[in-house]
Amino acid sequence: MSKGSVIVTGASRGIGTDIARELAAAGYDLALVARSADRLEELASELGGATRVKAWPGDISSWDDAQRITNEVNEEFEGIHGLVNNAGVTQDGLFVRMSPENWQKPIDINLNGTFFFTRAAAPLMMRQRQGRIINISSVIGLTGNAGQANYAASKAGIVALTKSVAKELGGRGVTANVIAPGFIATDMTADLPEKVRTGMLSQIPLKRFGEGKDVAGVVKFLLSPEASYITGQVLVVDGGMIA
Ligand code: NAP
Repeated sequence: MSKGSVIVTGASRGIGTDIARELAAAGYDLALVARSADRLEELASELGGATRVKAWPGDISSWDDAQRITNEVNEEFEGIHGLVNNAGVTQDGLFVRMSPENWQKPIDINLNGTFFFTRAAAPLMMRQRQGRIINISSVIGLTGNAGQANYAASKAGIVALTKSVAKELGGRGVTANVIAPGFIATDMTADLPEKVRTGMLSQIPLKRFGEGKDVAGVVKFLLSPEASYITGQVLVVDGGMIA
């Protein structure tokens, strides 16, 4: 029997795919969201079976897509237990050379996308008097980083948004928490120069880069009954990098 439905954005690759795998195995119905429809369909047919897993292609930086997808998922799965706002992008560059367009991209996708889906799901979860919102930020949103002022601002905004939502929705049984990953080996980090990777590794007490499943396990925990008294928190999953 299904444990309820969960929307996972950015499920087409990287951490989002690992989250989808973990949650399907744990018995959740899943709505997979990203722009790459083919990849989502492939993953849905791979993971579906014991539970229902369906592709919902869309652009998270579109309010219309966020509303449409959230309402369709709510109707098809008769409720939404969890929302995992995982999709995100970087657009790195030194601050003094950063164009307004380059500033805007991570804000539009990471911050506005998280706002749009959370805003669309919140009234449905409030009516259910139950829901779990899990937003994927980054340690960069807590520390800042040279070359990533735009990304850092978008990820810090996600922390503030989540804490505010936790305060507003707590009375209706809805929790909202942030996961802040450190360095996780995915497409997003694949192109970093070897020198940067070695430098980062030397700052990680656990002496390895993270994997998507390190984040996925924490998502599963935050969706579980064991996490029902946790809200407004930031869980850092970074091998001790910023401890
Ligand atoms: P990734 O491998 O680059 O995957 C990004 C995902 O986001 C893809 O599924 C992509 O799908 C989706 N996406 C991007 N723009 C979208 C849009 N406009 N609409 C819908 N989907 C969109 O990245 P990742 O490393 O797995 O990162 C996942 C999350 O973790 C991000 O929020 C990232 O900031 C955060 N994070 C990652 C690391 C790390 O070290 N990797 C560290 C800290 C935080 P499509 O291209 O198919 O749309």
